[in-house]
Amino acid sequence: MERVPAVFIVDDPPINSAYLMRKQMEDAGKPLEENGFFSRTYLSRWREMEKSTIIPNAFFKNLIIWALKEGVKGKCSLLACPGGLGFLDSAVTGYSKAELKELIGIFKNEYMQNFEITPEILTHTLALDLKTDKLLPVTEHEWMAAQDEKTLTAYMARGLQVLRNAGIIATGITQPCNYRGDFALYSRAVLNAEKRVNNISKTYYFHDCEAEALEVNSKIMINNPEKNEYVVSVVSASRADEPFWYTLYGEGEPGKLADYYITEDGRQGRFLDLLSTNSPLVFHAHGQTLYSNGSEKGFLALQEVVRRMNKYLSGRFVWMKIGEFAEWNVKKWGI
Ligand SMILES: [Zn+2]
Repeated sequence: MERVPAVFIVDDPPINSAYLMRKQMEDAGKPLEENGFFSRTYLSRWREMEKSTIIPNAFFKNLIIWALKEGVKGKCSLLACPGGLGFLDSAVTGYSKAELKELIGIFKNEYMQNFEITPEILTHTLALDLKTDKLLPVTEHEWMAAQDEKTLTAYMARGLQVLRNAGIIATGITQPCNYRGDFALYSRAVLNAEKRVNNISKTYYFHDCEAEALEVNSKIMINNPEKNEYVVSVVSASRADEPFWYTLYGEGEPGKLADYYITEDGRQGRFLDLLSTNSPLVFHAHGQTLYSNGSEKGFLALQEVVRRMNKYLSGRFVWMKIGEFAEWNVKKWGI
C-alpha cells in the first residue's frame, strides 16, 4: 500500500498570540469583535490566558525531545518579532539575553533536525510599521490584505531576515490568522522574499485548512521548472480551530481530543477518512494549544495521537518536513 506523507505543523511559538492580539487591540481602543472567526467560546475567555503570554523555553524543549524520539516531522513557526515585543536577533521583552539565546538554540539545533522553521509574519498581533518599528493599531493579517506586492514582499523579507540574522534559514512563510487578499500576489511575495533574503526559489506557505473533504491536496501556486521556482500552499486537513484549543482552560481529556484524528480502537477519525483516499496526513496545532495554559493537555493529546498512529497506521505514512512535502507535491502534481 502507498505510504502517504505525514506533516505536523506547529503555529505561533514562542508566544500566545491569541491572547496578545486581543490584549493589544483592546489597549489600542479597538477591541476585536468576537464575531465570525473570533466567536469561538474558547477565545471569548482570552483574558484567562494572560499567565501564558510567553510560553516557557522548557516546554518547547520537551516538545522537541519527544518529536525527535518519535520521528515526528513537519514545520514549526518562530515569530521574528513576537507580539511586537522586540526582534529575535536583538532583544525581546520578557526574555533575558540568556533565555533568548536558549530559545534560538533550541530551534536551531533541535527543531531544525525534524522541522522547518518559518516566521509567522512578523508579530502575529498588530502590524509593524517597517519604517519606525512601532506597532500600528490594526491586526497584522488585516493590514496585509490591503498591501501591494512590493510592501508585502518587504514585510515577509523582514521576517526571514530577522531569523537569518539569528542563524535560522526559514524556507517558507506561515500566515497569521488569515489573508483576505489576492493569493497570486501573496505567492509572488513569498517567492520574492525568499529569493531576496535566502536565495531560495523552491518554497511554500501555510494558510489553508480543509476539514471536510476526504481528499485534501496542497496547491501548487507557482511552478516554473525552467527557472527552478515553485511555491506550494500547504493545506492542513485539520479544522482551522483545531481540537486542542479546547485545552486552554483546563477542559478536554487528552484521549478524547485525540479521537478527532484517530479513535482509541484505531477505526475512525480524520486520519482514517484521509487514508481512505490516500490523502496526506497534514495537521496542525499551536504552541499555546499544546502548552494549554500550563496543563500541557494538548501536548498529551498529541502524544496519544502519535501513539495510535504508530499502533494502527504503521506502514501507511511517512513523516516529512514541510519542505520535503512541498517537493513531493510538485513531483506528484507539477507540470
Ligand atoms: Zn498562528
